[in-house]
Amino acid sequence: MNKQDVYIKLSEKMVLYADLVGVPVKDSQEPLVKIATSEALSSREIDPDTLTVFDKDIYVRKTVADLLQRASSELRNYSKDMSLEVVYGHRPLAIQKSLFDKYFALYSKKYQGIELYEAVHRSIAVPEIAGHPAGAAVDIRILKSGKPINMGTGIWEFVPDSYTFSPFISRQAWANRRLLRDTMKQVGFAPYDGEWWHFSYGDKEWAKYYNKPNALYEQLEQ
Ligand SMILES: [Zn+2]
Repeated sequence: MNKQDVYIKLSEKMVLYADLVGVPVKDSQEPLVKIATSEALSSREIDPDTLTVFDKDIYVRKTVADLLQRASSELRNYSKDMSLEVVYGHRPLAIQKSLFDKYFALYSKKYQGIELYEAVHRSIAVPEIAGHPAGAAVDIRILKSGKPINMGTGIWEFVPDSYTFSPFISRQAWANRRLLRDTMKQVGFAPYDGEWWHFSYGDKEWAKYYNKPNALYEQLEQ
């Protein structure tokens, strides 16, 4: 099997727009809170669009913030010089919509109907199902003595080798991805295997992954 076929096989296992669009939401009305940082958990917003809205702080739903604390202590128990760094959390719906519109215009030259939505969704989540605008998703990595550990690709490097199970990365990077994924899953986050750094709790993707009857968080305008 050539490299391209392996990537296609991996992407076929990822959750589709069609899988998520019908998942109901019962919003818990939980507030967005600022991620409280500690030795074990830091935050560093990297998106210029979001920096203009929230400055350097990263916001998520209250339970998501609590689970991040738990994940960081789990990691700390595993290794005292490791910590978690969140680089992205809640994204206001307006930002998600403008990103989506950009890709929609681009792909509408090539695709139509549901295929158009699926194509756009592979680049940017459709706003109605996206985890970031619900305050449910985080993009996260592991630091060791303050420096990012080797994950095979950089965070937000949108290439097929960022698929969590790409076989074309080193053994060390593979083990490191496994450590992040296990740490996050242990406290209840759902992974997204199209990006090794993306995890969520309470959104439609989480509901689908854990077979829950509904998602817990609706998208937020602000
Ligand atoms: Zn993400």
